[in-house]
Amino acid sequence: MTTEELNDQLAHACQSCQAACCKKGQLFLPRVEYERMHAHAQMLGSAAAAEFEKRVSDHGSFLLYDQKDRCQFLDERNLCELHPLGLKPSECFWWPYHVFTAGAQESLEIRLYTSCCDGYRVHGPHSPYPAHIEKGVNAMGFDVVRAFRRQYRGSSCDTQFIQSVAAMPTVSQ
Ligand code: SF4
Ligand code: SF4
Repeated sequence: MTTEELNDQLAHACQSCQAACCKKGQLFLPRVEYERMHAHAQMLGSAAAAEFEKRVSDHGSFLLYDQKDRCQFLDERNLCELHPLGLKPSECFWWPYHVFTAGAQESLEIRLYTSCCDGYRVHGPHSPYPAHIEKGVNAMGFDVVRAFRRQYRGSSCDTQFIQSVAAMPTVSQ
């Protein structure tokens, strides 16, 4: 299965469950992603910006966005308004995978949710997502993602271990 076919199947599953992932929990925002979203909310107007700022908590190297019962960027068709603008946060691309701390919170691992939805059924050993996620974690900073998960543990119930995340050395220019 190609990545495009897999994404199509996942999108279909997400529509079937009415975008459940966008309606609960805290969203992890590296600072650069937060700034892009904040600028977009400001462009939408003062009410959108105020709503965005009210939902965000600052944790230094990262921020958390409270989805409450519905992310403010989810439209009435249950589609993400940020996706076509290239502003969708990285963590939203990871679902139904999540990154958790492991080993006394020192290391990271990728796990697949096996109960929240049908989306996980389209993933298997062929899925390119874990490799993309591992690269993404290192691009945004292994320590930043680990700090996020130490702050917001999330629930790893009903998840399947996929792989550990290797901390890749930063290449200096
Ligand atoms: S990843 Fe699963 S729970 Fe989340 S929106 Fe898609 S199908 Fe629903
Ligand atoms: S940013 Fe988009 S994908 Fe992420 S929670 Fe909000 S609506 Fe869903």
